Amino acid sequence: MDQAARVPGTSPNARTETGFKLDIEPFHIACDGVLPMHRPGICFHPDCSRPFNPTRDWQKYCSAACRQKDDAELRRVGMMAAPAMLTYRMTRNRRSDPVAVDTANAARRYTDQLISDWVKNRAERVQAAEEARQCA
Ligand SMILES: [Zn+2]
Repeated sequence: MDQAARVPGTSPNARTETGFKLDIEPFHIACDGVLPMHRPGICFHPDCSRPFNPTRDWQKYCSAACRQKDDAELRRVGMMAAPAMLTYRMTRNRRSDPVAVDTANAARRYTDQLISDWVKNRAERVQAAEEARQCA
């Protein structure tokens, strides 16, 4: 199965079911597995963030449950971002059309705000999880 073309969180046959196809590798492969917010040996699910012993060097989560919860969050954020990303890309070069310029700017502001709020939220959840573990 061509993993790069799969829609995350869908069945392996999603590409043929929907016609969706992207010939781009997943980001974790494109960036050689370096995710700035991920600390090796610390669960990447922000509500968990507990230390664990990875059995493989690419393992980011302490359990399947944490991976599934974080996958669900990634899907939700992706669904929020996708319309703005498409809108921005479809309008950003139409500089002679003032409506398109306003739309492109609104789409860019939306994605910037979404990213900022999400990163801040994750950092706060990591800190809360670590503080809760220290109190336990
Ligand atoms: Zn975990």
